[in-house]
Parts: sequence; C-alpha cells; structure tokens
Amino acid sequence: MNAILRIDMGATGGPKASVEPIGKYAGLGGRGMTSVIVGDEVDPACHPLSAANKLVFAPGLLAGTSASTSGRLSVGCKSPLTGGIKESNAGGQAGMALGRLGYAAIIIEGQPPGDDLWKIVLNKDGVSFSVDNSCRMLGNYDTVAKLEKIHGDKVAFMTIGMAGEMKLGAASIACTDRELRPTRHMGRGGVGAVMGSKKIKAIVVDEAGTTPPQPKDPAKFKVAAKSFVEGLKRHPVTGQGLPAFGTNVLTNVLNEAGAYPTFNFQQGQFAGASKISGESLAQLETDRGANPTHGCQRGCTIQCSGIFYDKDGKYLTKQPEYETVWSHGGNCGIDDLDAIAELDRMDDDFGLDTIEMGVTIGVAMEAGVIQFGDAPGAIRLLKEVGKGTPLGRILGSGAGITGKVFGVERVPVVKNQAMPAYDPRGVQGIGVTYATSTMGADHTAGYAVATNILKVGGFVDPLKPEGQVDLSRNLQIATAAIDSTGLCLFIAFPVLDQPDTFQNLLDLLNAHYGLSLTGDDVVALGKRVLSAERAFNAKAGFTHEHDRLPRFFEQQPLAPHQVTFQVKPEELDKVFNW
Ligand code: SF4
Repeated sequence: MNAILRIDMGATGGPKASVEPIGKYAGLGGRGMTSVIVGDEVDPACHPLSAANKLVFAPGLLAGTSASTSGRLSVGCKSPLTGGIKESNAGGQAGMALGRLGYAAIIIEGQPPGDDLWKIVLNKDGVSFSVDNSCRMLGNYDTVAKLEKIHGDKVAFMTIGMAGEMKLGAASIACTDRELRPTRHMGRGGVGAVMGSKKIKAIVVDEAGTTPPQPKDPAKFKVAAKSFVEGLKRHPVTGQGLPAFGTNVLTNVLNEAGAYPTFNFQQGQFAGASKISGESLAQLETDRGANPTHGCQRGCTIQCSGIFYDKDGKYLTKQPEYETVWSHGGNCGIDDLDAIAELDRMDDDFGLDTIEMGVTIGVAMEAGVIQFGDAPGAIRLLKEVGKGTPLGRILGSGAGITGKVFGVERVPVVKNQAMPAYDPRGVQGIGVTYATSTMGADHTAGYAVATNILKVGGFVDPLKPEGQVDLSRNLQIATAAIDSTGLCLFIAFPVLDQPDTFQNLLDLLNAHYGLSLTGDDVVALGKRVLSAERAFNAKAGFTHEHDRLPRFFEQQPLAPHQVTFQVKPEELDKVFNW
C-alpha cells in the first residue's frame, strides 16, 4: 500500500485519475490518513457540498493482510452535518480489497458539471469511469443487485442511496459485506451527501488478480496474527459476548446501569428493554433459522454481526446493532424487534445513519409529530425520507434541524451530530467524549463506557465527575491510533485488559512494516491525528464553546439515579492538554 490515487471528478472532458507516491503520508492509515489529508488539502471554510470539499477513502495500515478484523475502511471530509472534520469507518469487504489493490488512500475532488451520476471501477488494471443513471434514486439494495449483474459477486461495492443523492445531512455510504449486502455503513456526519455532491452513485472495488500485501517479516507476522486471535478469543467481550449476542448485548447492561436513554433522553431505563435485548434478538434470529454469529468481512474471528429474518423466515436485514436497536427502540419507546429491524433495513437501503435517524424520530416524537411508542408512525416517517418529501428532507437533515423546525428544546446533539446510546448523566466519561470529540457526539471516539460500566481497563465511577477527563483523553488518543490500523475498535477490549494482546498488535505492525514501534509511538500517532483534526476544526470556526453538551444535561436529573452531568466546562477544556 504505497500509492495514493487522486480522482478529479471535475476535470475537463470527464473524471481523470492519477497515481502519486505515498510520500509524506507513509506510516498513516485509516483515520490518520483521512484526517491528515483533509487537514492538508481541504479549505476548512469551504461549503461541505461544494467542489472544494474532498472525499478521502483510506484502508487501515494492516488492510488486505490476514490480521483479524483488519479490513475497516475510513472515509474523511468536511462534514455537512457538523461543519467540522469528519472520519467515519465501516467493515465489509471494500477495505480489504483496496489494501490488496495497493491504495493507501483515494482522494476524490472536484465536481462534474451536469446531472449525470457516475460509477467508478477500481481493479488491478487501474481506474475507469462511466456515466450510469440506471440506479438513480434507487436504494442501496436495488443498486447493488443491478451492479452485481454486471460486475459479478466477487467484488465489493460502495454505494449511496436516495439520501446521498439528495445530499441530506444523515446520508451514509454503504459497503457490502461478504454476501454483497449493503449493510456496513460509513454512517456518521453526512459522508454520503459529500459522495452525492460529487455525483458518484457507486464505486466498484475488484481485487481479482491481486495477492495479499506481504509482510516484511512473514514468520513474525504469522506468529503475531495467531497470538492476536487467541487474545481476542480469550477476552469475555470479544470471545463470548459479541459473538453470541452482537453489540446489542449492551441493552440489558446499560438499562440496568440506568444510563439507557429513553423517550428522547427523558429517563435512563426502558420498561421494554428485555424485549429488545441482545439475548432476545439472538433467540429470535435462531428461532427463525437466521444467524446471530456472522463476520462482516473475511477473516474476522469476533463475528459480532448477524442476520435477521422476518416473520416468514426471509432475509430482512443484518442483525441490528445496539445503537440501532436503541435509537429506533428504547429512545423512541418502541419494544418491537420486527419494527426495529424494518427501520434498520430502510436506513441501510435509503443510505442513512441509524443513530441520527433514530434520534431525529425521537425529537419528532417529543414535538408531537407522532407519539412515543408508535412503531407504524416511525416507519411512516422514515419512508418520507426515502421519498424525499419536504418532511422527509427535514428529518433526513438530522436531529438538530428537526429540533429547530419543530421548536424542541431537548435536542441531544453535540456539534449538531446526534448523541449515541449512552446517557452522559449515567456515564459521565462518555459525556466528556461526546462534548469534546472532534467528530461531534460520537461514542466510538473515546469509549469510556468500557471503564465506567464494563470495568475494562480499570474502573472509574460512572456517576461522578472525578477521573472522567483523564479517562476520555487517554481513550480518545488510543482510539485515534486504533482507527488508523484498520482494526475493528472492539479489539480495544482485549488490548486494554491484556498486555500480551497489546504487544501482539505492535508485533503485527512491526512485522508488516519492518518497524520497531513501541506503545509510546502509538500514543504519538493518536495525538498527531487528534491535533490535525483539532486544527481543522479551529480554522472552521469551532471554539471551546462547541465542546459542550446541551444545557439540559446539567439541568435535568436523570432517573433512576437522579444525577446531572457534572463535569465542569473548565475541566472539559483540559481534555486536549498534553
Ligand atoms: S468484529 Fe464485528 S464489525 Fe468488526 S469486523 Fe468482525 S463482524 Fe465486522
């Protein structure tokens, strides 16, 4: 992976591609690569949907290798939702394929004139472009089905649905999984709208005729890869909880902790939680002949994804993730797994971030557009987004816009991005991450839930402010580094708890690149990535005042613990002091 592919969609005579050496970006991958390139090349003051914005794809440092879960793919740009820098990443097969094609990054810039939609094909022979309007305003499922007839089933697709074409703030980019289902999404921050603004409906990644990238020290790499897998299997989260129940294993845990945001963040426990828990979901999937244990990319040994069948035993969607089950479920007072799965299917098909859409519908419920618990009403509202009606376009623009349009005070967003499935009053460490992350409210940016609730990597009392800033800082640094490897963030559980698994991670990188990285180098990488993102956001106009939670979290106590968010603003301002 030593080449950067640059695609100018606005070139005279049609899109043009050129290949550059990796140069100064050597040693970066995934989020590190996208954020540093966006920082270098994108004007922070530009309109996110203009030709001046760039869409940067980057597989991780270990992409295409046999290292387990190493195929996550990052995309970066200026976010149409937050107005700041954005990195979003997904599993599926595209990251692995790009690694095998040798691309460390793909920088897509400019905008073509006219209304035509374009398809880009990447294979061992290079890049080709074609106008393809046959999938205009089709969902991701139909788009992939059409493309599969042309390109076969041995490729990976990255596509946008109607939401991306409409350039909505909640629009995602779908990546296909091993079975060519468009279920793995770069979901957050409206990255699909930026792809839509560049008039790209689909990117086809064909790895045929390539070989996996060879490690500098194959013997050492093989040993490290084997030990790494053993470490993943040994840890209770990655070896037992996630394979058996998927990410939705968290529903009962967060509900019992009193930190499960319910009825648009009005309370911390949901009476219907057990009906939509990971345990109930896995049982339902098994009863219907589906599969609760499935890998979204080849070589994954955690296998946290799964398959959901409808009441007739037919494939409906992938196993909805915890965040989705919460956003469309407890957050909206809905305890019906079939309704939640239908909403998940529509999100994937229209190309929408499930967190943003569930929170948006919760805000609409708070406004009285429909009632909490109204599952058919929620499905109806989401359909409006797919159709592009005026109401649908408002909802598809996210929770912040919807709150403004309907005059709602309780709108759980930071930097205009919807808050995920952990109430910051019940998990104060994640509140620090939500407030200060360069990405807007983002649980993955520094998953303090691990230490506050799951007692991974130590324990910090979730209901007290003490220790939360240090916890979030350390996790944000570590996460920025892990997001650069292309490894799934879930590996952080064993890496935090098991020193030998952390060493295996270093060994993988060192054996692959012929380096001698230490833990200090990992920390330095994380700080470099965060610094680049902070610098971009500062130039885009963000100040300390944007590193705050909505005021209601300090004013309205959360049941059952009757606690408010207690980390002071001056403490939040210390997160990036290093
Ligand atoms: S752990 Fe889950 S999300 Fe990560 S690669 Fe495996 S199946 Fe995909």
